[in-house]
Amino acid sequence: MINDKYKGLVAERMKSSFDEWASRPFVEEQEIYRFLHNLKGTAGTIGLFEIEQEADHKLLLFSDASTRPFTFSEWSELLKSLLVYIPVQLMETTPLQSNDETYESAVLNETFGKRILIIDDDVDLAAYLKAILEERGYPVHIALTAERGLKLFYDWKPDMILLDILLPDKNGLVVLKQIVEKSHQEHSPIIVMSTKDTIEQRIHVYRIGAMDFFAKPIDQDLFLALIENRFKIKQQWERSIIVDELTGAYNRKHFNRMIKELIASFGRTGQQFTVIIMDLDHFKGVNDTYGHVMGDEVLRVFAQTVLSTKREGDIFCRYGGEEFALLLPNTGKEQVSDFVQRIRYHFSTHTFTTGDQRFQVTFTAGVTESHSNNAHAEKLVEEADQALYWGKESGRNKTVLYTPGMNSEGKEQKLNIIIVDDDPLIREIVVSHLKQWMPNRNLQVLVSSYEDGIQFLESDWYSEQHKYVILLDGAMPTMDGVDVLTKVRNEYPERNIVVAMLTARTNQTDIIYALQHGADDYIIKPFQMTELLSRVERLVQKLFK
Ligand code: GH3
Ligand code: MG
Ligand code: MG
Repeated sequence: MINDKYKGLVAERMKSSFDEWASRPFVEEQEIYRFLHNLKGTAGTIGLFEIEQEADHKLLLFSDASTRPFTFSEWSELLKSLLVYIPVQLMETTPLQSNDETYESAVLNETFGKRILIIDDDVDLAAYLKAILEERGYPVHIALTAERGLKLFYDWKPDMILLDILLPDKNGLVVLKQIVEKSHQEHSPIIVMSTKDTIEQRIHVYRIGAMDFFAKPIDQDLFLALIENRFKIKQQWERSIIVDELTGAYNRKHFNRMIKELIASFGRTGQQFTVIIMDLDHFKGVNDTYGHVMGDEVLRVFAQTVLSTKREGDIFCRYGGEEFALLLPNTGKEQVSDFVQRIRYHFSTHTFTTGDQRFQVTFTAGVTESHSNNAHAEKLVEEADQALYWGKESGRNKTVLYTPGMNSEGKEQKLNIIIVDDDPLIREIVVSHLKQWMPNRNLQVLVSSYEDGIQFLESDWYSEQHKYVILLDGAMPTMDGVDVLTKVRNEYPERNIVVAMLTARTNQTDIIYALQHGADDYIIKPFQMTELLSRVERLVQKLFK
């Protein structure tokens, strides 16, 4: 039949296109569209109606107008239904891409960790097993010879190997010996399949290190149950390797893998993501005061809080001791502060109790988002760390977004503006205005407030590398403003700190008294915000003169 010849040619053409695409890092969408378009035409013409229909169906997924790059794992996943039309003899020689990027990008894929390599020279049996396995979502490759099987084993890195003993070029047991060590390292089970089912044979196979021996002829249900069972166990092993036992968060190994995966996907599709590093505040103090068992409990509760607040696709890891990291796919930094705020809220409502003691724990978070200049794991982590450091330096229990220039060696200098006033309305107005304030020099401005002098002095407010403008209410209930001023002047270096008194007292003697005790300026209440800002400008000039 003339059409049979053409049918063979269609399969070969499909195959050579796929082979050629597989040798490249990307295929443009347009090319895939045109390929499917041609395939539909040819297949329809020679009576391959199934292929025609399938190609037509797939055409809906692609556009002729787009040049969007598709990676191997993307296009092969989308077009895999066409592969069944390529005879197994042809498929067997499909070159495979095995670079790390393909491997990494498969991590987020459903079929990840479920690739099966069948090494068996019985084409009919191999094709049959391939069909029933693929129907259940396992990607399968067939090798009809030992040599080909070994090549696929090293290149494709299958997650399970089904190995026949009688092969044309080599005994399957020799192949088994060759691959057993590496497959153990990768936790990939090897299942030997053979018609020669004797006790001696089984003992031999197990001794070499195969996980199972499966007798031919194969019972389909038994076979599928075994495969499913082995993959389940494999998944549990692998999970135990990437999950931190104490907290249930992923470990750093998994973090490193996933951040690379997100960077690769950002490179391909421009899909943004955010990195958050969170560190518990004064955690050493928790251990020292309440013991390590309690410390562990705090870590567990914190992890539980994050795990129950985060979205499903967010990746939460224990980065080290009391430091955690979150990777948020498809998220820009604008959405993040609200998210961290929710974690902060939930965690702050948890009171830890031990004996008759009760305490709470806070955390500080540093945030950065992916952009074209920082698409490296180390750089992203460094930025989030820098923001975290800045949050710690400026008082803890807060979320800080990374901004360029934040690095300690950067040109930008750090200015803290601190308001100490018992009037909540004044604090709120001043803080909200100062947060909007854009200083006319390259300054990183951080605003914080305290409701009395004692709370302020007892906080962790000072760092030698920063400069400070302190707006100090003159009259406060627990500690007078001038007393706070006196302590600041006595205990901290003057060059880094300027102080302005906020005073309702128009009394000259009070003002003179404050100036004598080291105030740089005074602002009479009630004041206009524009006046306050221009005073702050002047004080800043004095600090950085
Ligand atoms: P800061 O607010 O600056 O982060 O101060 P900190 O005390 O939290 O930070 P520091 O890094 O000085 O101390 C972290 C402590 O966490 C030290 C270490 O003993 C403790 N730690 C690390 N891993 C564990 C753990 O698994 N369990 C317990 N209980 N403690 C841990
Ligand atoms: Mg720490
Ligand atoms: Mg800490």
